[in-house]
Amino acid sequence: MNASHDVSSLKGIGKDLARKLYEMDIETIEDVLEHVPFRYDDFVTGSLTDAVHGDKVKFAGKVQSEAVVRYYGKGKNRLSFRLLVEERYSVTVTMFNRGFYKDQLKLGEDVTVSGKWDLHRMTISATELQFGAVEGELTPVYSLKGDMRMKTFRRVVELAFGEVSEPIEERIPDPIRATYRLMDRGAMLKTLHFPATRKELTLARRSFVYEECLYFQLKLQALRLGKRRGQGRALQLDETDIASFITALPFPLTGAQRRVAREILDDMKRPERMNRLLQGDVGSGKTIIAAIALFATVRAGKQGALMVPTEILAEQHASSLAPLLEQFGIRVGLLTSSVKGKARSLLLEALEQGELDILVGTHALIQDTVLFERLHLVITDEQHRFGVEQRKRLRNKAELADVLYMTATPIPRTLAISVFGDMDVSVIDEMPAGRKTIETYWAKPEQLERVFGFVEKELTAGHQAYVIAPLIEESETLDVQNAMELHAILAERFKEYGVGLMHGRLHASEKDEVMQAFKRNDVQILVSTTVVEVGVNVPNATMIVIYDAERFGLAQLHQLRGRVGRGDAQSYCILIADPSSETGKERIKTMTETNDGFKLAEKDLELRGAGNFFGTEQSGIPRFILTDPALDIQVMETARADAVRLLRSQAFFDNPEYVVLKRFIERENLLGGERIE
Ligand code: ADP
Ligand code: MG
Repeated sequence: MNASHDVSSLKGIGKDLARKLYEMDIETIEDVLEHVPFRYDDFVTGSLTDAVHGDKVKFAGKVQSEAVVRYYGKGKNRLSFRLLVEERYSVTVTMFNRGFYKDQLKLGEDVTVSGKWDLHRMTISATELQFGAVEGELTPVYSLKGDMRMKTFRRVVELAFGEVSEPIEERIPDPIRATYRLMDRGAMLKTLHFPATRKELTLARRSFVYEECLYFQLKLQALRLGKRRGQGRALQLDETDIASFITALPFPLTGAQRRVAREILDDMKRPERMNRLLQGDVGSGKTIIAAIALFATVRAGKQGALMVPTEILAEQHASSLAPLLEQFGIRVGLLTSSVKGKARSLLLEALEQGELDILVGTHALIQDTVLFERLHLVITDEQHRFGVEQRKRLRNKAELADVLYMTATPIPRTLAISVFGDMDVSVIDEMPAGRKTIETYWAKPEQLERVFGFVEKELTAGHQAYVIAPLIEESETLDVQNAMELHAILAERFKEYGVGLMHGRLHASEKDEVMQAFKRNDVQILVSTTVVEVGVNVPNATMIVIYDAERFGLAQLHQLRGRVGRGDAQSYCILIADPSSETGKERIKTMTETNDGFKLAEKDLELRGAGNFFGTEQSGIPRFILTDPALDIQVMETARADAVRLLRSQAFFDNPEYVVLKRFIERENLLGGERIE
């Protein structure tokens, strides 16, 4: 039988079972073979170095230290000792209520323990202990849906392997497979389902991960290098003119700003479309880079657009860019949903006539009624806040135009290759000189009165404060302070000051009103949910208090903290938190230790794992079957280089051994069929 046959053609698979398989999106025999286990249970590790953090494992080894028993509570105890595994690795074993083993655990004695593996602490929390070295078996564990049972699925896999007689088609061309000594596809799949040893499994996994990475990177690189990226138009840039604009800025650029400005300007001079991401921590000075790119565009005779996620930000940008650009005769317009009637039609007319050079606005910019005469550069700020759909529309609107995305959401370098593989990336990794770091403190809920005292001190000094609560309304299940209740409490506590309330359920006009009042300093304390998270710039605010801080991710805490520290005065961030988990504690502690968004992102990744890295949806990290984009970074990099090399070679398009890869690329409609120069 051929692997492309329907699963129902397997002997022993009836209608009912077939239906359950279809529900799991498994239709063909090949689909069964490709549904590989995500983990293996209850094994004696071939090599401890292959054990995965969090897995249930079984290690054999020799007792290396005398067992220690701690007693606590009502007759409870905890036994711990060190175990030497593979004659090399010293592992800690802990067990609850097995104090009675203490005297039996003689030094040098062979024992086998099974339990959960903590890679970071090199500890196994054992639930079982056997004397003697026990041989184990690798039992595959599959992810299942609906009514499918593990045992049943294992049987389906056995049936599938039993019936397939024809060889399984290779996905990796022979020359590449030979170079990296990868398994052939049939052996690889069989090993993943029925591994005999851990070593063999490692090899099979390596082959699988490479395959996943190569196909992923082929797609990305075809997008990045290929036709889709599309022809653009080269701009004639006047370098001396641009240099004089930079000299006219109120401050000298940092080295990093100079470098990224260069990268962007070089892109603009090329005939291909620019598709670049500019990453820079909160406050690193991205706006000025946007100004330089917009200036260069207008001086080359074109129009530019700057799109931001909120009206507040649009107004902020328009009012900071206009004075810089207008001294050079460049005309800047602002378009938000609040610009209505006559003003709106005049603005749109000027844009279409080409009397306006730059338009700053919210997503109102991408409406069909907004027409540019000669649009060439589109910049989005805080790009992670825009939906995929909005970004796509923007790109379509700006046919042939250069696109620059700016974001303060730091993606660790190890993940950037997966997330932004189809873009060129520039990074501002330096802060303007003289920035004061925001002092960050961790307060327990019972220290609230002291926190209020601190807030009062700042207010007395003429400054303002944000107070952040995670939810709008009371929730029975979550024990969190809510913004409304908090607002009431603070209004009572700080009677002599203005206390404002901001949350996502307010209308745009109400939000704007509250925000303006805070900007004008009519309101001194702004109680808010996370809606103030991005971009908001009120330099007189020097303090931010975040309630239930343990409920936020590191990335979000960092964005919130970035609301202060925008003026000359020393600023403070107070995290009110009572974390119950170790990672919660670690998160809060990390916040108090660093102001560096990239360091925080790395830490976040370490604490959460790539899968949960601040919401897969938002960060754009693709889902893989076995690849962990954070851990398999080397394979990913190799695959990326291979993909680029293949797409640029003539052999890829001519030689039969690449036909499978080429078919894949064609199916995805990514290339016109010729070599990429
Ligand atoms: P972000 O990268 O968060 O968008 P902004 O562009 O808003 O940061 O810049 C933050 C502040 O730093 C602004 O007030 C800006 O004028 C100032 N700034 C930017 N670049 C420099 C520089 N090279 N030297 C001094 N101040 C700068
Ligand atoms: Mg900004």
